Amino acid sequence: MSQGEGGRSQEAFEYRDITINTVEKASDLYIQLEKLGAGKFGMVYKLQEKATGKIRAGKYFRTRTSKEREAACKEVELMNLLHHPRLVQSLAAFQSQTELVLVLEYIAGGELFERIVDDDFEHTEPTSIQYVRQILEGIQYVHRQSIVHLDLKPENLVCISKNSHWIKIIDFGLARKLDPDTPVKVIHGTPEFMAPEVIAFEPVGFTTDMWSIGVICYILLSGDSPFQGDSDMETLQNITAAQWEFEEETFSEVSQEAKDFISQLLQKDSRCRLPSDQALAHPWLQKTEQSGTKALSKERMRRFLACQKWQKTGNVLLALKRLSRLSCKLDDPVTAPSAPEKGELCHSQEEDPVFIFLQQQIKHGPSFLEPLTDQVAVEGSSICLQCHVEGFPDPEVTWLRNDAPLQECPRLRIDSKGNGSCSLTIMMLSMEDAGHYVCRVSNGHGAVECSARLTVERGSNTQTPKPEEGAGTDKP
Ligand code: ATP
Ligand code: MG
Repeated sequence: MSQGEGGRSQEAFEYRDITINTVEKASDLYIQLEKLGAGKFGMVYKLQEKATGKIRAGKYFRTRTSKEREAACKEVELMNLLHHPRLVQSLAAFQSQTELVLVLEYIAGGELFERIVDDDFEHTEPTSIQYVRQILEGIQYVHRQSIVHLDLKPENLVCISKNSHWIKIIDFGLARKLDPDTPVKVIHGTPEFMAPEVIAFEPVGFTTDMWSIGVICYILLSGDSPFQGDSDMETLQNITAAQWEFEEETFSEVSQEAKDFISQLLQKDSRCRLPSDQALAHPWLQKTEQSGTKALSKERMRRFLACQKWQKTGNVLLALKRLSRLSCKLDDPVTAPSAPEKGELCHSQEEDPVFIFLQQQIKHGPSFLEPLTDQVAVEGSSICLQCHVEGFPDPEVTWLRNDAPLQECPRLRIDSKGNGSCSLTIMMLSMEDAGHYVCRVSNGHGAVECSARLTVERGSNTQTPKPEEGAGTDKP
């Protein structure tokens, strides 16, 4: 079936049901160009098809373990069910011994929010309506295929080209097919955009995505993030309490219909949220171009993006700082530990040969700047074991209790921040949580660990802390 976008896109696509090619290699058919992004699974590169010269994107999944291979194949399988103009399209897949390459259409415009803050981009309520409508059209199709995306956030909404208002949803890495008879519980996503049921480790549903759309819409119209706290822990607590409001200052220019739309998505009870088709029928989305053309603030949106970038690039800055300490004479503005301005450390700088050379120079095994310390806590309370690690590239972190690896569950949260801070938070402590905890970190250049003892004292009248209302009580 041939399907363009009613003349909207630069290239009409043949929707393809792809089978994984195990005979040829991606490199037989494509030339690998620059890196476009990185994720937990591996890397994304720009590709050029040798036969046609066309530009594509290649998602390179590491598949050394059967679990990694299954996850990659699952994404390919789901992509075969997702043929819609508002969703990134898959074109081919190649499996070799150690990696799977998923070839996707190349979406050239970059993140929607980055485009919005460009000087020549109009940012008003009517343009925002256009974006939200497109997101909903894409997600309505995804939901009709019984799939939930589970990672809707600004980063995964990209523009077709630099000056286009047409967007596509990317990244089906966390997406799941739902079967009404099998409840699916997940504990992943990005804290700021996670729905309360995800944090409570309760079954997810199609309206789990609708919550995230509510958060995206809130940020789109105000530049403020409704649940963002000073730490991931605080953000999760704000979400669990479904504590949010329309700030008078940031929403002064926003219409009542828009606020009503957001209110109908940011409902703690997932059954009360609008499903995608009802959301598309909401009066706010029926408004025409003429109504309300006041410009919305780009300044707050810029700050939001700078914060996100700062969290991500923290490590690169840290590494550059370290390099400057070692011997190099880098200029102050780069080494100064301030948040980067918009555009700083952009792709072009990362692709700069000098920058790449510097990165090579600073590769080093991990070491602890601050190790774990012993802790004593009362049954029923919460504790946070924390350490600070330095290493380049980013070390992988594993936590163990009494030599057994720990996994996240509603009561137990594992965090690693871009700035090297690693933490293990345990809520509603029980006597069995006492023991010897180890934080083990490694990258290609070495491995180190530090440990601490957690003592849990019996509480006289155990009081459970408030914030994790609804959180399950499964023990790790
Ligand atoms: P995960 O699947 O683990 O959530 P991820 O978020 O890192 O991983 P993607 O969002 O698919 O994975 O890709 C990472 C980045 O690569 C994107 O944020 C985007 O910048 C770039 N990218 C991915 N797909 C494309 C594409 N089709 N065209 C252009 N750039 C892309
Ligand atoms: Mg992504």
